[in-house]
Amino acid sequence: MEYLPDFDLLRPKTVDEALALRRENPEARLLAGGTDLIVNVRRGIVDPKAVIDINGIADLRTITSPDGGGLRIGAAVTLAELLEDRRISEDYPALCEAAAEVAAASHREVATLGGNLCLDTRCLYYNQSEWWRSANSYCLKHRGDVCHVAPSGKQCFAAFSGDLAPAVLVLGGTVEIAGPNGGRTVPLGEIYEDDGAAHLRLAEDEILTAVHLPAAPPGRSGYAKARVRAAIDFPLAGAAIALRQEGGVLEDLRVALTGTNSCPILIAGTDRLVGETVGEEVAEKLATMLPKQIQPMSSTFTPPGYRRKVVANLVRALFRHLTEAP
Ligand SMILES: Cc1cc2nc3c(=O)[nH]c(=O)nc-3n(C[C@H](O)[C@H](O)[C@H](O)COP(=O)(O)OP(=O)(O)OC[C@H]3O[C@@H](n4cnc5c(N)ncnc54)[C@H](O)[C@@H]3O)c2cc1C
Ligand code: SF4
Repeated sequence: MEYLPDFDLLRPKTVDEALALRRENPEARLLAGGTDLIVNVRRGIVDPKAVIDINGIADLRTITSPDGGGLRIGAAVTLAELLEDRRISEDYPALCEAAAEVAAASHREVATLGGNLCLDTRCLYYNQSEWWRSANSYCLKHRGDVCHVAPSGKQCFAAFSGDLAPAVLVLGGTVEIAGPNGGRTVPLGEIYEDDGAAHLRLAEDEILTAVHLPAAPPGRSGYAKARVRAAIDFPLAGAAIALRQEGGVLEDLRVALTGTNSCPILIAGTDRLVGETVGEEVAEKLATMLPKQIQPMSSTFTPPGYRRKVVANLVRALFRHLTEAP
C-alpha cells in the first residue's frame, strides 16, 4: 500500500454544487465511504487530482417513504444506517441480509449504498500494489496491453463483487441519477454493462443520488453469499431471490447474482416457473437456468468451475429456505 497522494478535497452541500464541481474538475472522482476508492488510490490504480466528497449533501443521506409507497434511500446512506432501518429489515429483507454481509462492521459504518452499487470490478491481477502490477507489465484494464486471464482476447473479465446489487435487482429497485442535463430514473440493471473495464453506464459527470424500492411485494426475499474467509471477504458468488407463493404454487420469482460476471445478473426465464408447485423439482429447474447466463473466469483465487457449482448450490439452498414455511 502506498502513501496517499495529494489531491484537492471538495465538499459540496447540494447535488447541484456537486454537479458544478464535476464540470469544473472533469477528472475528479466521487468519494462516499471511500472504502473502495481510497484503497484503489493508495494502490495507484486511480490517481485523481480532485475528490468530491458527497457526504455533506443532506438529500443523499436520508431514507424517506414517498407518497406513492415504497422507499427512497439516498445514495450516501451508510450500510449501518440501512441495517438499522425497520422499514427495510421488515419489508425488504434481501437488502438487509446483503448489507450485513459486506466487509466488517467498521467498514459498514462509512460504506454507502451508492458506493456499493458503483463499486469497481475486481481481479486477481488488478487489485494489487503498484510494484506487483508493474512487475507483471500491468494488464488491459489499467495501463497494460494484455489480459492475464484471457490473453488471446481484448476483453476484461474482472468480476463485479458488490453484495447489494442483486438484492436491489430482485426487489425491482430503480436508481435516480443526476447529471448536467437533468435527472433520470432507470431500473438498476440498466446502469451496468458486462465489461470488466467499463461496467458502469453512468457518464463521468453523473451522480447516482438514490435508490427507489417499490411498495413491498407480498412474499419473501433473501440473500446468500459464499466467500473464502467467512469473517470478511468479497463474494466469490452471491445470490438474491424474491418470490411469492400462494398455496404452494409459485406466483412470482426473481433471482439475481453477483461475483460471476463483470456486472450483476438478473436471471432470465424464471417467469417460466410461475404456476409450478414449489419443491425440489423447481429448485433443480432453477439451477439448470444458471450455467448459460453466467461467466465466472480465472479472475479470483477460486477456479471458475468451482464458482459455477457454488452458485447453483447457493440458489438451490436459498430457494428451499424461502419456500419453507416461515
Ligand atoms: C477489506 C474490505 C472488504 C470488503 N468487502 C466487501 C464485501 O464483502 N462486499 C462488498 O460488496 N464490498 C466489499 N468491500 C468494498 C466496499 O467496502 C463496499 O463495497 C462499500 O459499500 C463501498 O462503498 P463506499 O461508500 O465506501 O464507496 P467508495 O469507495 O466511496 O466509492 C466506490 C466507487 O463508487 C463511486 N461512487 C460512490 N458513490 C457514488 C455515487 N453516489 N454516484 C456515482 N458513483 C459513486 C466512487 O467514485 C468509487 O468509484 C470491501 C472493502 C474492503 C476494503
Ligand atoms: S480480467 Fe484481465 S484485463 Fe481485466 S483486470 Fe483481470 S487481468 Fe486485467
